[in-house]
Amino acid sequence: MPEGDTVWRTAARLHQVFADRPLTECDLRWPGPSTHDFTGATTLEVVPRGKHLLHRLVGGWTIHSHLRMEGSWRVEPTDAAPPPRATKVRAVLATAAYRAVGWSLGMLDVVRTADEGTLVGHLGPDLLGPDWDLEAAVARLRASDAPLAAALLDQRNLAGLGTMWTAEALFVEGLDPFAPAASLDADTLGALLNRAQRLLRASCASAVPTSTGSTRPGDATYVHGRRHRPCRRCGTLVRMEFVGPPTQRRTLYFCPRCQAPAT
Ligand SMILES: [Zn+2]
Repeated sequence: MPEGDTVWRTAARLHQVFADRPLTECDLRWPGPSTHDFTGATTLEVVPRGKHLLHRLVGGWTIHSHLRMEGSWRVEPTDAAPPPRATKVRAVLATAAYRAVGWSLGMLDVVRTADEGTLVGHLGPDLLGPDWDLEAAVARLRASDAPLAAALLDQRNLAGLGTMWTAEALFVEGLDPFAPAASLDADTLGALLNRAQRLLRASCASAVPTSTGSTRPGDATYVHGRRHRPCRRCGTLVRMEFVGPPTQRRTLYFCPRCQAPAT
């Protein structure tokens, strides 16, 4: 699932291609937004907000998208073959030089820019955003009644973390993913969030997301995606469990020894 760093890179690429240029094509293949055609409108900016993408147009409109599980925006030259009429293609936006094709998007909305809060106003501080507020995020975690991993994944506490960076940050900090978030002190939670932010920021600048420093396939993570393989620190077999509320079950990898419950 795309995390904050993937969305950040996507927004940066879309901004580079669209900002200050008029749209030459606007095809939103989604009930509701499909009635809007912004051909001729100039893009003001494309910005990430947690895992949400906000494509703002001059004139006060925003095209909002979310990648959910498998979504992506692929940028190609306008003179490349046009995208197929495939059901997975949910949006096509283009300038004179480039076309961006939204594949398997999880959400697509059109709102007045002034009303973006109705879509992203519930989000906690954004780990990669200009509004990042460590103290506020720590306070939200400490007020949570969820286990630590589930609280980190809840975008209302803080925005931008998915299963990979949650698992990796918890491992590096040696924290039990199932301890109640409220049981940890503010310094420990602050250090954990600073760690997660460093991992995300480094990944924004890297072509291949990595927490170990290695970009070789299979070597880029400490625990994520490594179920039944030996922990890189202690050799204990990495475990995978589900976390989060029943309707939003997420996978979480951890080392039962390095991240043992505090005694
Ligand atoms: Zn271990």
